[in-house]
Amino acid sequence: MKPELFFLPNGENDILYAPLRRFIAEVSSSVKNAVAAHMNGLALDESQNKVIGILKDKGVFDEAEPPKIEEEFCPTRVTLFPTDFCNLRCRYCYASAAEGGHRLPMNAARAAIDLISENAKKKGYSQFSLGFHGNGEPFMAQDIMQECCEYAAGIAEKNNVRCQFSTATNGVLSDSDLDFLLAWIADVNVSFDILPDIQNRQRPTAGGGGSFDRVSHTLSRLDAAGAQYGIRATITTESVTRLREMAAFAKEHYPKCNVLHMEPVFEVGRALLTGQSSPPSEIFVREFIKAQNELKGSGIRLVYSGARSNGLYASFCSVCRNGFTVTAEGNATSCYEVCTYQDPRAQRYIYGKYDEQSGKFLFDSEKMELLSKLNVSNFSYCEDCFCKWHCAGDCTAKTLGLGSLEQHAGSERCVITRALIYREVLERMGVDAGIEPVFI
Ligand code: SF4
Ligand code: SF4
Repeated sequence: MKPELFFLPNGENDILYAPLRRFIAEVSSSVKNAVAAHMNGLALDESQNKVIGILKDKGVFDEAEPPKIEEEFCPTRVTLFPTDFCNLRCRYCYASAAEGGHRLPMNAARAAIDLISENAKKKGYSQFSLGFHGNGEPFMAQDIMQECCEYAAGIAEKNNVRCQFSTATNGVLSDSDLDFLLAWIADVNVSFDILPDIQNRQRPTAGGGGSFDRVSHTLSRLDAAGAQYGIRATITTESVTRLREMAAFAKEHYPKCNVLHMEPVFEVGRALLTGQSSPPSEIFVREFIKAQNELKGSGIRLVYSGARSNGLYASFCSVCRNGFTVTAEGNATSCYEVCTYQDPRAQRYIYGKYDEQSGKFLFDSEKMELLSKLNVSNFSYCEDCFCKWHCAGDCTAKTLGLGSLEQHAGSERCVITRALIYREVLERMGVDAGIEPVFI
């Protein structure tokens, strides 16, 4: 395989970036020309030969295996959606969650936990992972969560392995929910728009009241218990100019928050009815940088989903390989955002279901085969993008929907991903990326 080398602008010079070799260096234009000549098989002069020799010694031109999608479907992680009921009516809810009508049948939950624990045993892993999420608020079915945790812990003990628990929540929890959470779940992510006016407007309760005080109470209890947690804020055109303020508020009021995730809203579900729109990408980047600067030295890491240059990935998410997700209706989906058959994308992303008769999950192998192809190696649009092994073609439910692999043409999100990953590359070189974004 041809080595993948990218040149990124850096003032008068360039940055030579070889993600698969984990190599970054600032280079002059003469080095850039020598590399281009070498890559194109052209004759090199003496000084060019010398440069290429140095880079060869550093392994820059060596073949490097790209990250791969696991061949076999053998998940050791499951995310369960205990219910599609919700106690909030967020104006941009992708699932339009409300009264709902489903509670995850315990038989399906147990079958999912059996599957991942057996796979962990088969693979010789020392742990398996159980998470909760939802097209509703998981704690609206706290009894199901508790039963699942107890069941998984029993199996883990029997097999002498660990079960790692995680959950997402909107944070509007009762004190007994919080007691359960603190007793069982160490990895918590709270969806919260941080500033009181934004939270109350964007994430009202089912009765139409504000939710800020309730969520803030939850976070205070997590802080008091010394539990670390993440906050995920959804950013709209209305809130985008306040990212720095959000960061400052989180830093001041939620000391145990260790990750702050800011993500532009995706215009689906209730966002279409309420007119919530995704902010212009360039404005999002500028405001994100201000928030990043605000958080410097605070211990809170600011993240955006596509910018993850610390790792190499073949696909944006686990697309039905290492993990799977079970909706409140007992269906297996590869995407948190595609959770019911009312969503036209379900015909691609929902690929299995719990079968009451056999007591097991049945998976559609043809769909799984197609889903496993949703990876960056198959997206020609991403071929020359320096972010390809980090962003990995982004979330295909968002960028591609039901389109064919050839139709992948990125999205507005590419502007954000590239600008933020470029800054991460600079930071890894020890260069202060400054306040002005560079759009590549
Ligand atoms: S975004 Fe989450 S918390 Fe808000 S209504 Fe939807 S499911 Fe409920
Ligand atoms: S082209 Fe866009 S979707 Fe593809 S890897 Fe680059 S940033 Fe991601």
